[in-house]
Amino acid sequence: MNILSFDVEDWFHIRFDQGFFEGVSCSEYPSRVVDSVMTLLNLLDEVDIKASFFCLGWVVERYPSLITEIDRRGHEIGSHSFSHRLLTSMDKMSVKEDISSSIKILEDCISKKVQIYRAPAFSICEKNSWALDILLDHGVEIDCSVFSGPHDFGGIKKNGFNKPFLIKTPSGSLIKELPIGSAPFLGGNLMYSGGGYFRILPYFLIKYFMDKSNYNMMYFHPRDFDPDQPMMNNLTIARRFKSYVGLGGSLRKLRCLIADFTFLTVTDAARSVDWNIAPHMEIHKSLHGENLR
Ligand SMILES: [Zn+2]
Repeated sequence: MNILSFDVEDWFHIRFDQGFFEGVSCSEYPSRVVDSVMTLLNLLDEVDIKASFFCLGWVVERYPSLITEIDRRGHEIGSHSFSHRLLTSMDKMSVKEDISSSIKILEDCISKKVQIYRAPAFSICEKNSWALDILLDHGVEIDCSVFSGPHDFGGIKKNGFNKPFLIKTPSGSLIKELPIGSAPFLGGNLMYSGGGYFRILPYFLIKYFMDKSNYNMMYFHPRDFDPDQPMMNNLTIARRFKSYVGLGGSLRKLRCLIADFTFLTVTDAARSVDWNIAPHMEIHKSLHGENLR
Protein backbone atom coordinates (compact mmCIF):
# COMPACT_ATOMS: atom_id res chain seq x y z
CA MET A 1 0.00 0.00 0.00
CA ASN A 2 1.07 3.56 -0.68
CA ILE A 3 0.06 6.37 1.66
CA LEU A 4 0.37 10.08 0.83
CA SER A 5 0.79 12.49 3.73
CA PHE A 6 1.72 16.14 4.26
CA ASP A 7 2.77 17.98 7.40
CA VAL A 8 1.09 21.38 7.18
CA GLU A 9 3.58 23.90 8.53
CA ASP A 10 5.30 27.05 7.30
CA TRP A 11 8.74 27.19 5.71
CA PHE A 12 10.33 28.48 8.93
CA HIS A 13 9.06 25.58 11.04
CA ILE A 14 12.35 23.86 10.33
CA ARG A 15 13.34 25.72 13.53
CA PHE A 16 12.25 23.93 16.69
CA ASP A 17 13.47 26.38 19.34
CA GLN A 18 11.14 27.03 22.22
CA GLY A 19 9.45 30.41 21.83
CA PHE A 20 10.93 31.03 18.36
CA PHE A 21 7.57 31.34 16.64
CA GLU A 22 6.07 33.64 19.24
CA GLY A 23 8.83 36.13 18.49
CA VAL A 24 8.88 36.06 14.68
CA SER A 25 7.74 39.12 12.79
CA CYS A 26 5.74 38.82 9.56
CA SER A 27 8.20 41.08 7.74
CA GLU A 28 11.19 38.98 8.73
CA TYR A 29 9.44 35.63 8.24
CA PRO A 30 6.60 36.12 5.74
CA SER A 31 4.19 33.19 5.79
CA ARG A 32 4.02 31.04 2.64
CA VAL A 33 1.98 28.10 3.89
CA VAL A 34 -1.38 29.04 2.33
CA ASP A 35 -0.05 29.41 -1.21
CA SER A 36 2.15 26.31 -0.87
CA VAL A 37 -0.72 24.13 0.34
CA MET A 38 -3.11 25.46 -2.31
CA THR A 39 -0.59 24.45 -5.00
CA LEU A 40 -0.60 20.92 -3.59
CA LEU A 41 -4.39 20.75 -3.29
CA ASN A 42 -4.82 21.80 -6.91
CA LEU A 43 -2.26 19.23 -8.01
CA LEU A 44 -4.03 16.44 -6.11
CA ASP A 45 -7.38 17.48 -7.57
CA GLU A 46 -5.96 17.00 -11.08
CA VAL A 47 -5.37 13.31 -10.42
CA ASP A 48 -8.19 12.83 -7.89
CA ILE A 49 -5.93 11.57 -5.11
CA LYS A 50 -6.86 12.03 -1.45
CA ALA A 51 -4.12 12.45 1.13
CA SER A 52 -3.70 12.91 4.88
CA PHE A 53 -2.71 16.38 6.09
CA PHE A 54 -1.17 16.59 9.57
CA CYS A 55 -1.79 20.21 10.56
CA LEU A 56 -0.04 22.36 13.13
CA GLY A 57 -2.33 24.08 15.63
CA TRP A 58 -0.15 27.15 14.96
CA VAL A 59 -1.37 27.14 11.34
CA VAL A 60 -4.99 26.37 12.26
CA GLU A 61 -5.03 29.35 14.62
CA ARG A 62 -3.84 31.75 11.90
CA TYR A 63 -5.38 30.26 8.75
CA PRO A 64 -8.50 28.28 9.72
CA SER A 65 -9.99 28.65 6.23
CA LEU A 66 -6.98 26.77 4.81
CA ILE A 67 -7.78 23.78 7.02
CA THR A 68 -11.49 23.83 6.14
CA GLU A 69 -10.49 23.98 2.46
CA ILE A 70 -8.30 20.88 2.84
CA ASP A 71 -11.20 19.13 4.55
CA ARG A 72 -13.75 20.38 1.97
CA ARG A 73 -11.70 18.83 -0.83
CA GLY A 74 -12.04 15.43 0.79
CA HIS A 75 -8.63 14.99 2.39
CA GLU A 76 -8.03 13.66 5.87
CA ILE A 77 -7.06 16.02 8.68
CA GLY A 78 -4.67 15.01 11.46
CA SER A 79 -2.62 16.72 14.14
CA HIS A 80 1.04 17.63 13.82
CA SER A 81 1.13 19.14 17.36
CA PHE A 82 0.26 22.73 18.21
CA SER A 83 3.62 24.46 18.55
CA HIS A 84 6.00 22.26 16.50
CA ARG A 85 8.24 21.89 19.52
CA LEU A 86 10.08 18.57 19.68
CA LEU A 87 8.31 16.16 22.02
CA THR A 88 11.74 15.06 23.20
CA SER A 89 12.34 18.60 24.51
CA MET A 90 9.19 18.73 26.65
CA ASP A 91 8.04 17.17 29.91
CA LYS A 92 4.83 15.11 30.10
CA MET A 93 2.63 17.99 31.18
CA SER A 94 3.80 20.21 28.32
CA VAL A 95 3.31 17.40 25.78
CA LYS A 96 -0.19 16.80 27.14
CA GLU A 97 -1.06 20.49 26.82
CA ASP A 98 0.35 20.67 23.31
CA ILE A 99 -1.50 17.56 22.05
CA SER A 100 -4.74 18.57 23.76
CA SER A 101 -4.74 22.11 22.37
CA SER A 102 -3.83 20.94 18.85
CA ILE A 103 -6.67 18.42 18.72
CA LYS A 104 -9.19 20.83 20.20
CA ILE A 105 -8.46 23.62 17.71
CA LEU A 106 -8.59 21.18 14.78
CA GLU A 107 -11.85 19.56 15.89
CA ASP A 108 -13.42 22.97 16.50
CA CYS A 109 -12.26 24.05 13.03
CA ILE A 110 -13.57 21.11 10.97
CA SER A 111 -16.27 19.78 13.32
CA LYS A 112 -14.90 16.25 13.01
CA LYS A 113 -12.96 13.93 15.30
CA VAL A 114 -9.20 13.94 14.79
CA GLN A 115 -7.84 10.43 15.03
CA ILE A 116 -4.38 10.55 13.45
CA TYR A 117 -1.19 12.21 14.69
CA ARG A 118 2.41 12.79 13.66
CA ALA A 119 4.95 14.31 16.06
CA PRO A 120 7.18 17.19 14.91
CA ALA A 121 10.34 15.71 13.37
CA PHE A 122 9.20 12.18 14.35
CA SER A 123 10.16 13.00 17.94
CA ILE A 124 8.53 9.98 19.57
CA CYS A 125 11.17 7.39 20.33
CA GLU A 126 12.33 5.04 23.05
CA LYS A 127 12.59 7.62 25.81
CA ASN A 128 9.20 9.33 25.47
CA SER A 129 6.83 6.62 24.27
CA TRP A 130 4.54 7.69 27.16
CA ALA A 131 3.37 10.33 24.64
CA LEU A 132 1.44 7.52 22.91
CA ASP A 133 -0.70 7.05 26.02
CA ILE A 134 -1.49 10.78 25.92
CA LEU A 135 -2.55 10.41 22.28
CA LEU A 136 -4.89 7.51 23.13
CA ASP A 137 -6.39 9.56 25.98
CA HIS A 138 -7.22 12.25 23.41
CA GLY A 139 -8.95 9.94 20.95
CA VAL A 140 -6.06 9.38 18.55
CA GLU A 141 -6.24 5.86 17.10
CA ILE A 142 -3.37 5.90 14.63
CA ASP A 143 0.10 7.34 15.19
CA CYS A 144 2.52 8.07 12.34
CA SER A 145 5.47 9.37 14.39
CA VAL A 146 7.85 6.43 14.18
CA PHE A 147 10.76 6.90 11.81
CA SER A 148 12.35 3.53 11.13
CA GLY A 149 15.94 4.67 11.01
CA PRO A 150 18.32 7.20 12.50
CA HIS A 151 16.95 10.74 12.57
CA ASP A 152 18.26 14.05 13.87
CA PHE A 153 15.43 14.39 16.40
CA GLY A 154 13.94 10.91 16.87
CA GLY A 155 13.97 7.64 15.00
CA ILE A 156 14.10 3.98 16.00
CA LYS A 157 17.45 2.51 15.07
CA LYS A 158 16.53 -1.16 15.57
CA ASN A 159 15.28 -3.11 12.53
CA GLY A 160 11.67 -4.29 12.24
CA PHE A 161 9.85 -0.99 12.63
CA ASN A 162 9.28 -0.23 8.96
CA LYS A 163 5.84 -1.80 8.43
CA PRO A 164 2.48 -1.26 10.23
CA PHE A 165 2.54 -2.59 13.78
CA LEU A 166 0.80 -2.21 17.13
CA ILE A 167 2.73 -0.41 19.81
CA LYS A 168 2.23 -1.60 23.37
CA THR A 169 2.44 1.66 25.28
CA PRO A 170 4.03 2.01 28.73
CA SER A 171 0.54 1.75 30.32
CA GLY A 172 -0.15 -1.52 28.45
CA SER A 173 -2.58 -0.13 25.86
CA LEU A 174 -2.22 -0.68 22.11
CA ILE A 175 -2.04 2.01 19.43
CA LYS A 176 -1.88 1.46 15.67
CA GLU A 177 1.36 2.67 14.13
CA LEU A 178 1.89 3.48 10.46
CA PRO A 179 5.59 4.39 10.46
CA ILE A 180 7.91 5.94 7.93
CA GLY A 181 9.36 2.92 6.18
CA SER A 182 12.85 2.30 4.90
CA ALA A 183 14.59 0.01 2.46
CA PRO A 184 17.40 -2.36 3.43
CA PHE A 185 20.49 -1.08 1.66
CA LEU A 186 24.15 -1.98 2.08
CA GLY A 187 23.53 -3.43 5.54
CA GLY A 188 21.62 -0.39 6.77
CA ASN A 189 18.32 1.41 6.24
CA LEU A 190 17.87 3.76 3.30
CA MET A 191 15.14 6.35 3.69
CA TYR A 192 13.53 7.37 0.42
CA SER A 193 9.91 8.27 1.03
CA GLY A 194 9.81 11.96 1.84
CA GLY A 195 11.32 15.26 2.88
CA GLY A 196 14.97 15.77 2.04
CA TYR A 197 15.40 12.11 1.06
CA PHE A 198 12.79 12.51 -1.67
CA ARG A 199 14.35 15.77 -2.83
CA ILE A 200 17.90 14.47 -3.02
CA LEU A 201 17.36 11.00 -4.53
CA PRO A 202 16.76 10.63 -8.27
CA TYR A 203 13.15 9.73 -9.04
CA PHE A 204 14.01 6.41 -10.72
CA LEU A 205 15.61 5.23 -7.47
CA ILE A 206 12.61 6.28 -5.38
CA LYS A 207 10.33 4.45 -7.82
CA TYR A 208 12.58 1.39 -7.65
CA PHE A 209 12.36 1.20 -3.85
CA MET A 210 8.62 1.86 -3.89
CA ASP A 211 8.02 -0.88 -6.44
CA LYS A 212 10.00 -3.31 -4.24
CA SER A 213 8.07 -2.54 -1.06
CA ASN A 214 4.44 -3.34 -0.26
CA TYR A 215 4.34 -0.46 2.24
CA ASN A 216 5.31 3.11 1.37
CA MET A 217 4.43 5.99 3.68
CA MET A 218 5.23 9.15 1.73
CA TYR A 219 5.65 12.28 3.88
CA PHE A 220 6.09 15.83 2.63
CA HIS A 221 5.89 19.43 3.78
CA PRO A 222 4.56 22.35 1.72
CA ARG A 223 8.07 23.83 1.81
CA ASP A 224 9.48 20.72 0.04
CA PHE A 225 7.96 22.13 -3.16
CA ASP A 226 8.70 25.83 -2.69
CA PRO A 227 12.03 26.79 -4.32
CA ASP A 228 11.44 30.51 -3.64
CA GLN A 229 11.35 30.29 0.14
CA PRO A 230 13.91 32.42 2.01
CA MET A 231 17.08 30.93 3.49
CA MET A 232 16.74 30.36 7.24
CA ASN A 233 19.56 31.78 9.36
CA ASN A 234 21.44 29.94 12.07
CA LEU A 235 21.18 26.42 10.70
CA THR A 236 24.10 24.03 10.83
CA ILE A 237 25.66 23.30 7.43
CA ALA A 238 24.17 19.78 7.51
CA ARG A 239 20.65 21.02 8.29
CA ARG A 240 20.89 23.77 5.71
CA PHE A 241 21.82 21.18 3.09
CA LYS A 242 19.02 18.77 4.09
CA SER A 243 16.46 21.56 4.23
CA TYR A 244 17.24 23.20 0.89
CA VAL A 245 18.68 20.53 -1.40
CA GLY A 246 16.60 19.60 -4.43
CA LEU A 247 13.84 22.18 -4.04
CA GLY A 248 14.00 23.13 -7.71
CA GLY A 249 12.98 19.72 -9.08
CA SER A 250 10.78 18.37 -6.32
CA LEU A 251 7.40 19.45 -7.71
CA ARG A 252 8.24 17.71 -11.00
CA LYS A 253 9.10 14.56 -9.03
CA LEU A 254 5.83 14.78 -7.12
CA ARG A 255 3.93 15.00 -10.41
CA CYS A 256 5.68 11.79 -11.56
CA LEU A 257 4.93 10.11 -8.24
CA ILE A 258 1.19 10.78 -8.25
CA ALA A 259 0.99 9.78 -11.92
CA ASP A 260 2.84 6.48 -11.37
CA PHE A 261 1.24 5.29 -8.12
CA THR A 262 -2.12 5.16 -6.39
CA PHE A 263 -2.36 6.34 -2.80
CA LEU A 264 -4.52 5.94 0.30
CA THR A 265 -5.09 8.21 3.26
CA VAL A 266 -3.72 7.07 6.61
CA THR A 267 -7.11 5.93 7.92
CA ASP A 268 -8.03 4.09 4.72
CA ALA A 269 -4.64 2.38 4.78
CA ALA A 270 -5.13 1.38 8.41
CA ARG A 271 -8.49 -0.18 7.50
CA SER A 272 -6.73 -2.43 5.01
CA VAL A 273 -4.27 -3.77 7.60
CA ASP A 274 -5.12 -7.04 9.38
CA TRP A 275 -4.29 -5.84 12.87
CA ASN A 276 -4.97 -9.33 14.29
CA ILE A 277 -1.68 -10.51 12.81
CA ALA A 278 0.27 -7.24 13.08
CA PRO A 279 3.40 -7.41 15.22
CA HIS A 280 3.23 -6.03 18.75
CA MET A 281 6.19 -3.81 19.59
CA GLU A 282 7.30 -2.00 22.71
CA ILE A 283 9.38 0.89 21.50
CA HIS A 284 10.36 1.91 25.03
CA LYS A 285 12.20 -1.40 25.19
CA SER A 286 13.42 -1.39 21.60
CA LEU A 287 16.95 -0.47 22.63
CA HIS A 288 17.07 -3.89 24.28
CA GLY A 289 15.52 -5.75 21.36
CA GLU A 290 12.10 -6.48 22.83
CA ASN A 291 9.49 -7.66 20.33
CA LEU A 292 6.42 -9.28 21.82
CA ARG A 293 5.29 -11.30 18.82
ZN1 LIG B 1 6.91 19.30 11.08
